[in-house]
Amino acid sequence: MSHVAAPGVEPLSTPLAALPGVGPERAAQLARLGLRTIGELLLHRPRRYEDRRRLVPIARLGRDQAAVARGTVVALGLKRFRGGAKSVFELILDDGTARLHCRWWNLPYMQRYFAQGDVVLVYGKLCGFKPRAIDHPETEVVEETDEPSIHLNRVAPVYPLTEGLPQRWLRALVWRALARFEAHLTEPRPGLAPPDLPSRAAAIRALHFPAETADAERARQRLALDEFLDLQLAIQGRRKQLFAHASSLPCAGDNRLIKPFLKQLGFELTAAQTAVLREIRRDLGSGRPMRRLLQGDVGSGKTVVAACSALMALESGYRAALMVPTEILADQHFATFSRWFTPLGVEVHLRTGARRTSSAPPPHAQAGSDAGPAAARGAGPAPGRLNPPQLTLGTHALIEAGFVPENLGLVIIDEQHKFGVAQREQFVRKGHYPHLLVMTATPIPRTLGLTLYGDLDISVIDRLPAGRGPVKTFVRSAERLPKVWEFIRAKLAIGRQAYVVYPRVTEGDDDLKAVTKEFENLSQQLAPFRVGLVHGRLRAEQRERVMADFRANRLNVLLATTVIEVGVDVPNATVLLVENAEQFGLAQLHQLRGRIGRGGHPGYCILVADLQTPEARQRLKVLEETADGFRISEADLNLRGPGEFLGQQQSGLPPFRFGDLQRDRVLIERAHQLAAEWLARTP
Ligand code: ADP
Ligand code: MG
Repeated sequence: MSHVAAPGVEPLSTPLAALPGVGPERAAQLARLGLRTIGELLLHRPRRYEDRRRLVPIARLGRDQAAVARGTVVALGLKRFRGGAKSVFELILDDGTARLHCRWWNLPYMQRYFAQGDVVLVYGKLCGFKPRAIDHPETEVVEETDEPSIHLNRVAPVYPLTEGLPQRWLRALVWRALARFEAHLTEPRPGLAPPDLPSRAAAIRALHFPAETADAERARQRLALDEFLDLQLAIQGRRKQLFAHASSLPCAGDNRLIKPFLKQLGFELTAAQTAVLREIRRDLGSGRPMRRLLQGDVGSGKTVVAACSALMALESGYRAALMVPTEILADQHFATFSRWFTPLGVEVHLRTGARRTSSAPPPHAQAGSDAGPAAARGAGPAPGRLNPPQLTLGTHALIEAGFVPENLGLVIIDEQHKFGVAQREQFVRKGHYPHLLVMTATPIPRTLGLTLYGDLDISVIDRLPAGRGPVKTFVRSAERLPKVWEFIRAKLAIGRQAYVVYPRVTEGDDDLKAVTKEFENLSQQLAPFRVGLVHGRLRAEQRERVMADFRANRLNVLLATTVIEVGVDVPNATVLLVENAEQFGLAQLHQLRGRIGRGGHPGYCILVADLQTPEARQRLKVLEETADGFRISEADLNLRGPGEFLGQQQSGLPPFRFGDLQRDRVLIERAHQLAAEWLARTP
């Protein structure tokens, strides 16, 4: 056998065009499928398998389950109708038990592929019994030259194709490539091969040509495990690297700012908040950079934890930065932190796309005994000690090049689930290994967390502060809207406020017109109560004015797009109405619902939705039944699948060919474990 690979070239990197039988046209078709090398071809995952050892007699084909049958072409023909504009091509197969009509609508060229007397494999389920018929089945003509070992009498792979590429040709190519290159399919990490799963070589063989259908699934699991392992080794390896090389800034603080801060706060921290702060303080003083994720359901009080963490860094003479996903939230945090921090002598700066502002403390506002930090006494910019302490708040504008604070000790990212992994990394690269605290209200099931946040330690605030009014959730159809408005007016009449969330998620020009119209309707409908409108396209001053008016109860109702989804905190607002709720994900609705029930009054979340289908009803019922963000996330994940559920969070994750973030939780756990053991063993 001649060697295709040039010496020194990794054999699996051999271009497919080097294989006999792969000319430029075929190579181009394969490239359209992303297949350029032998290695890529051998990982081309079949779409499904056909067990061609157990063909189903045509007489026993059913409506419910797709099956493979085989018959001989006894008649075929193309019928045109509507003056030739429409057509149906029909092929009649007979296998001795019955006849089967295969039909293709408006695909006249199908007739080119078949001839009288051909033996045809057909896959599908019946759409009718009189006659037995399948519309648009998948078919394969059996050729006399077919090697039975490849195409017939076996569990045969059916691959994703591209135009012009025949199934049988691709299957034979994979067969030949396997025969020739199987020896090069070595274990990527010999010490790590899991004994209960096939070897990598066996898995790749069984992926294409399994002895039994179940073997294909075990092969998939092995290949999925390898993918998860690659990811875990990268994540955990990076973390190990960081801890080995980065000496971190001592940021645990000395309480001189936190003490007066907590005194004027107006409430006691909950036990959960205190416990988390203890973990954070330990990290900040540990000598290696903190990488911590704080999970806490909406309203659990993460902002105060962020504030205390920032104060620890500031007490230690370092600066802190806090990044949030929306301008509205940035404005709100700016107001909150200015109120909290300026009396302590801390400067608060705001940097968003729209503006830059600062709130400077009054002179001599330094709290605590250690009044003048060293720099004030002319000690120079030696580690720590800057005058005055500074917190910078902002949106992703903070990541942009201009912002490189001196002595950045701590980076906090609020509502991390709205950012991508890449943005987090970008932010931390500023300064000298600052500590990182990321906060999220979207509880991610543990295994997903391992892939998304595998490099982070996790803290959880598992209790809401006491004294919250209960929140009731109702799902209603649109006919009930008049009653709903009546209810809302009654709540407004006793002084409460309401959010009305407008369904559009995007903010294009048409949507803008629609929401403006909705605003006019609503203002009329609810008069004399005052309605404000906020959306992502408002200019900063307008937006701030509306939010300030709503906060101060000068507006009774806020009509908003999903810009208010995260973080907005107005305790007197107790009613949330979401129209067209069926258009939102459950986790998103739960976030929106987090806008209410923040004060002592009972809250009401009314989801008006198109409830035509039982599924829609069932889905929203989850929200009526539970306020537990974890359960809601799980339900959302199961309903929508990880791709949509994770959305932007997933950016930064590699695409998985074999792994499935939802189904493969056991494998993910295992990869996490194996990677940890492996890294502990290898220096
Ligand atoms: P989230 O975790 O959603 O960011 P916030 O930090 O906005 O929640 O807190 C929600 C509300 O609860 C705020 O009004 C905040 O001041 C209040 N809060 C936070 N911690 C406590 C506490 N320990 N006791 C009482 N109220 C608290
Ligand atoms: Mg928050």
